[in-house]
Amino acid sequence: MAETRIIDGKAFAAGLLVRMTAEVAALAFQPGLAVVLVGIDPASQVYVRNKAKTTVRVGMKSFEFLLPAETPEQELLALIARLNADAEVHGILVQLPLPGHLNTPAVIAAIDPDKDVDGLHVINTGRLAAGLPGLVPCTPLGCLLLLRDALGDMAGMNAVVVGRSNLVGKPVAQLLLQENCTVTIAHSKSRDLPEICRGADILVAAVGWPEMVRGGWIKPGATVIDVGINRVAETKIVGDVAFAEAMGIAGRITPVPGGVGPMTIACLLQNTLTAAKRREGAKK
Ligand code: NDP
Repeated sequence: MAETRIIDGKAFAAGLLVRMTAEVAALAFQPGLAVVLVGIDPASQVYVRNKAKTTVRVGMKSFEFLLPAETPEQELLALIARLNADAEVHGILVQLPLPGHLNTPAVIAAIDPDKDVDGLHVINTGRLAAGLPGLVPCTPLGCLLLLRDALGDMAGMNAVVVGRSNLVGKPVAQLLLQENCTVTIAHSKSRDLPEICRGADILVAAVGWPEMVRGGWIKPGATVIDVGINRVAETKIVGDVAFAEAMGIAGRITPVPGGVGPMTIACLLQNTLTAAKRREGAKK
């Protein structure tokens, strides 16, 4: 059985945060991130507080807005307009999903694209598709950084991305295309998914189905990025890849937890730093 190397996303993200802290300390201004949460879901509140703590830890300013679930859309849009105009705020993240009475596309569209650190505004989606500099969704950016670190030059490799969401699958595929991979995007209507996956030098699973990708779907030596976060018991979380089966077949694999997950928040702050440097640089 060949050896499978674990891609340690937790350690990589920690290193990224350390480098970012030094970079922020050397700036003549302080980047600021505003996070907006609508609704009092306790899990989301913990998530937002953790984001705020990490933001402060790297030396950035954190602005948190915890709004009641019944907040009218006009009120949320007015807050976003204030944050767009606030010179201390370089990044704006509106935590999704929003309560049902709010129009999510309209809310995302209201964010200044140059402060859209979630990379979900259609302007940023378009920039990514056109190969222009913009802000890239955090989890896909995290996948790219792990892959670059593990593989270096990816030109000519066959990449298969399972999942085509705007949040993960599509942007991951765009980024891999920019790395000169030959990219296949698979989804729920794809025929013979195991065979498609077996052609992958790089296999990214972003489906949301516990352990769907079996060991026999993986090309020996392939690099496997498991984006899935699936709660299967009170305290157990598994990915979209059957990890134990993949061991000994894949060349490298991200574990769940401890793989892609920790990269998401690090990339959120990386995007905030990018947005801040662009804005402050543009003022000169
Ligand atoms: P979505 O539900 O938005 O998209 C899932 C995608 O998987 C869809 O494109 C769907 O296809 C496809 N799919 C569903 N079933 C199958 C199947 N049987 N065969 C092939 N494709 C299938 O999920 P997200 O993209 O938002 O998230 C995917 C996973 O990543 C989830 O587990 C989520 O929790 C996790 N995640 C992790 C993050 C992190 O920080 N690590 C961040 C964001 C997400 P179709 O379009 O045809 O319906």
